[in-house]
Amino acid sequence: MAQAAGKQPQYTPEQIAQIKKKLASMKPEEIQEMIKKQCIFCKILAGEILAYYVYQDKKVVAFLDIQPGNPGHLLVVPKKHYSVLPQMPDEEVGHLFTVAKQLSGIVFDAVGAEGVNIVQNNGQVAGQMVPHVHVHVIPRMQKDEVVIEWKPGKMSDSEAKKIQTAIAEKAKSINIKEPKPKIVEKIVEKPIPQPSPEKMGKPAKKPAKKRTPKLKRHP
Ligand code: AMP
Ligand code: ZN
Repeated sequence: MAQAAGKQPQYTPEQIAQIKKKLASMKPEEIQEMIKKQCIFCKILAGEILAYYVYQDKKVVAFLDIQPGNPGHLLVVPKKHYSVLPQMPDEEVGHLFTVAKQLSGIVFDAVGAEGVNIVQNNGQVAGQMVPHVHVHVIPRMQKDEVVIEWKPGKMSDSEAKKIQTAIAEKAKSINIKEPKPKIVEKIVEKPIPQPSPEKMGKPAKKPAKKRTPKLKRHP
């Protein structure tokens, strides 16, 4: 399909209907596989596209952003494909952000950052260009050209209360799984073995004789 550089492809209504029909006939795993084939970060993870890796473990990787806001701008990416953050299991999100946090400290020394922004976009409307979850770690320097801003809005008391209620009601369903404390069932105290005095170069002390208490005689 002809497509001008940087523009979204334009589909005819017939093409859209065809795509919808095809998607409806596909299994969820097949759809996931199709998405992965088109995902640039999945291609990087598959080794099909070069990236400048700075970190990797079993679950996440981090590489340099190809269009950095500042030198050392990193992307921390889960190895498993999720389009947006709310789809990810909590434990995996925890791991992703722990790595982002660690890297946010490393860039201070590594590239001389004086500050750092952690940015995570979800959905096209929020500025997400690559639909594979990722966390930006953006080192900040004095007088750099990174812009992260919004126009400060206004909010009346009644509006604030209405929004507060709407969110707080839903937030009641948040279920944070605290790690269970380990229960120590039995503490067995072992005697600490003491080195013998001979081994320490000292003469062995004779065991003290048991003294029988002397009885005082009455005159
Ligand atoms: P976002 O707007 O949050 O989706 O950010 C996507 C980021 O991915 C942008 O900052 C891009 O510069 C970056 N990016 C796109 N393609 C690549 C690539 N092949 N290697 C590294 N970074 C990339
Ligand atoms: Zn992907």
